[in-house]
Amino acid sequence: MKKTFLLILFSLFAFSQLNFAGLSNPIVDYHIKAKLIPGEKAVLGEVVLTWFNDSDKFISELQFHLYLNAFKNNRSTFMRERRGVPRNFKLKKRDWGYIEIDKIQIKDGPDLTSTIEYIQPDDNNKDDQTVMRVSLPEPVPPRTKITLYTEFYSKLPKVIARTGFYKDFFMVAQWFPKIGVLWKGEWNCHQYHSHSEFFADFGVYRVEMTVPKEYVVGATGKRIAAVRNEDGTITSTYYQEDIHDFAWTACPDFVEFKENYSLKDPPVNTEIILLIHRSHQNKKDRYLSSLKNGIEFYSQNYGAYPYPTITLVDPPFGGLRAGGMEYPTLFTSLTFSWMPKGMYLTEMVTIHEFGHNYWYGIVGSNEFEEAWLDEGINSYSEIKAMEKYYGKDGSMLNMHGLKISDLVFHRLRIIASSRMDPIVKKAWEYYNGATYGINVYSKAAFMLLTLEKYLGEGVMSKIMRTYFERWKFKHPISEDFIAVAEEVSGQDLDWFFNQFLNSPDILDYAVGRLRSQEVKKPEGILEGEQEVFGEHQNEKIQNQKKMYRNEVVVVRKGELIFPQEILITFEEGEEIREKWAGKERWKRFVYIKPYRLKSVQVDPDNKVLLDVNYLNNSRLFKPKMMSPLKCALGLMFNFQTILSFVSF
Ligand SMILES: [Zn+2]
Repeated sequence: MKKTFLLILFSLFAFSQLNFAGLSNPIVDYHIKAKLIPGEKAVLGEVVLTWFNDSDKFISELQFHLYLNAFKNNRSTFMRERRGVPRNFKLKKRDWGYIEIDKIQIKDGPDLTSTIEYIQPDDNNKDDQTVMRVSLPEPVPPRTKITLYTEFYSKLPKVIARTGFYKDFFMVAQWFPKIGVLWKGEWNCHQYHSHSEFFADFGVYRVEMTVPKEYVVGATGKRIAAVRNEDGTITSTYYQEDIHDFAWTACPDFVEFKENYSLKDPPVNTEIILLIHRSHQNKKDRYLSSLKNGIEFYSQNYGAYPYPTITLVDPPFGGLRAGGMEYPTLFTSLTFSWMPKGMYLTEMVTIHEFGHNYWYGIVGSNEFEEAWLDEGINSYSEIKAMEKYYGKDGSMLNMHGLKISDLVFHRLRIIASSRMDPIVKKAWEYYNGATYGINVYSKAAFMLLTLEKYLGEGVMSKIMRTYFERWKFKHPISEDFIAVAEEVSGQDLDWFFNQFLNSPDILDYAVGRLRSQEVKKPEGILEGEQEVFGEHQNEKIQNQKKMYRNEVVVVRKGELIFPQEILITFEEGEEIREKWAGKERWKRFVYIKPYRLKSVQVDPDNKVLLDVNYLNNSRLFKPKMMSPLKCALGLMFNFQTILSFVSF
């Protein structure tokens, strides 16, 4: 007999499969029953999945992600790409993770278990078991649905790639057989790679989780029931529409805090749930305030947060590998009990992971194939949010007079970038994890910040709102973002996106040679009144006044092209601003003035954030004679050059 100790909190929803009045066009409807077996570090589950064939094709096979098999052995694609299994992992059998499909059948119909086949659409690695195919006896006709019943056993790994267990802390993610996306008439069901994330269809999740009663549970969605069972376990039921994944967590050492949060404009009403590990309770206020900042920022800048709950999970120190990961309406952040005020790592991770509810959660782009659409747009949003709430200069660190901004943090990564990869590439095709991270997070964020400076904040803000509004609960690709940017700005931006999304090259403009020479009086045979230096200027030399020929050269050192502004300042304070389309390798400007050049700055307003070297962007003109040392070095260099031609 089961005894209800918490009444059903919300039972007013009408649950009709694939016909709910939600915000998305629902393709999947999962009803999962799961039981945590702490001793085995495993979850025993059964799932009833209704899948809607939204294509105009007859579908005769279904494909599923079995993500946990990435952690099954060192032959999986995930482990091979990682080139190394975590220390101790290989020694202890219980540290590995996997998922077994014990049974899969059409509900009240034929058993499909014997048709299970592992496929490797990305790399042909026959040892990889992260994608499963089942054959159907009859194809699913267009615009119809099929319901399947599956039994599975998920052995969780010791926490790795943001999933698994650490002692009695469980982060249960990527844990159930998850159907791929039938996209443009084909199955889009990639293997689990070392540095790729996920892609799935929107729909409804109703999940019942049974855990020992001492465990505190948190999950995607809203808890609608909790039932105490006779065997000392509790079954909690969570429900959510308009999402494409479901994760949950359980730990006896979580302390749960709840608070309602609302915003007037735009209207937001949601319940904040913090699950903080007992050892980090002193960080509760930092989590709460940064999460509120995140909800406010994203709601006001992109669109109202639409879900009834948001759950923050704080992993214990030993489970930090679970930290910093997003799932719909639930995310993991991280902190340390010693983290000082003024170090905003916890705030940054909280805002970033919450933000993924927008860029990945609501706007459901394909993280396998175009990760910048979630990580890049989200890093751009995070940088702006951190600046707003924690100060422009010290938004990552502001301690004892030392200030580092989130912007600088990302910029350092770009400066260190290796030019091996562009921003758009399939996640597993990057040279390594570092170039993946630099490109899809930092470089993509800086691309958007550069675009914002180029188009203006008002236009960029409208682009972001329009993109969110138009593509929420859908699966956009890069071209969709570009189309919105062009439509809203009224400009052809192909030149911009073609370069920055597809080229691994860098953008670097610099001040080149500067000269300022006194103009000699006219000499030689002159005919009539001449314009002696009419090459760029029409100013005439007046005999009675000293004049200078000031020459400024600016150079393009990188392959990428971006329009530049150049500020030239003269000794008497006169300033001239020049514009240069930046296409040639160099450009010379000449000014005949009664005074000398003082300084030159490329991009004086710091609009071109993608420029990888700011140090060469400005230079003071010093009309000094060459120092003896520089002279000697110059001579040596010339001598070496001559030698290199004559040596064998
Ligand atoms: Zn992220």
